[in-house]
Amino acid sequence: MSNNFKRIDGRTPDQLRPYKIRAGILKNADGSAEIKLGKNWIVVGVYGPKEHFPKFEALQDRAILFCRYHMAPYSTTERKSPKPSRREIELSKVIRSALEEAVILERFPEMSIDIYIEVLQAEGSTRVASITAASVALAEAGIPMKDMVVGCSAGKVNGKIVLDIGETEDKEGEADLPIAIMPNLKKVVLLQMDGKLTHEEFKEAFEMALKGALELYEEQKRALKDLIEKMKELEGESNE
Ligand code: ADP
Repeated sequence: MSNNFKRIDGRTPDQLRPYKIRAGILKNADGSAEIKLGKNWIVVGVYGPKEHFPKFEALQDRAILFCRYHMAPYSTTERKSPKPSRREIELSKVIRSALEEAVILERFPEMSIDIYIEVLQAEGSTRVASITAASVALAEAGIPMKDMVVGCSAGKVNGKIVLDIGETEDKEGEADLPIAIMPNLKKVVLLQMDGKLTHEEFKEAFEMALKGALELYEEQKRALKDLIEKMKELEGESNE
């Protein structure tokens, strides 16, 4: 395959879609973030740590991490029922278990931390984009974490290994490999695969997704720094 292979949206094989993360976007949540990745647009609100109710369900040695991934009815090409689908229930669990690796839950016995993910617009790879935004929202809420968690996907489309799978590529491609990592601890906290890859292709796709995740990790840090700068400015203004 030649090097000038172009994808359906004109990207090169190892190119992410345009992205932007913003932290602290919701006035009323304890922590929040938004990610735009191509046409994906996802908002995350975090509440907690707060006392868990009902009390008899609380854990004595750690906090409970609750996660809801939800797609708005207008987020997909055809109106999606607002009721949680099996896919949304499964993704809520998959996202929670990835984030649970990083959050230091033992610090908050008998409490809970809630993560609400709203997919406003979907265009493929929303599970990993949700994890990336949720990690920023948790950081903004001041929840102690061992590391950030950042996700990215790679896959195989028209025989070529490509980064950051879009919706059409997801539907028409041969394989999709979403991953999430803790970038400093160098741990993989989510790895799923749909489709078929050879051993070599899997290695190539995994390496590519890893590189994409590290690029998005820089954007997570930029979004959090941006918020700190803004807060400093506001503090300065109120002291004037
Ligand atoms: P991910 O979003 O993590 O890639 P999937 O592989 O299940 O998860 O979905 C791929 C894409 O298909 C989604 O990002 C979204 O753009 C689209 N999609 C998912 N569910 C629906 C649905 N119920 N109706 C229409 N499109 C959907």
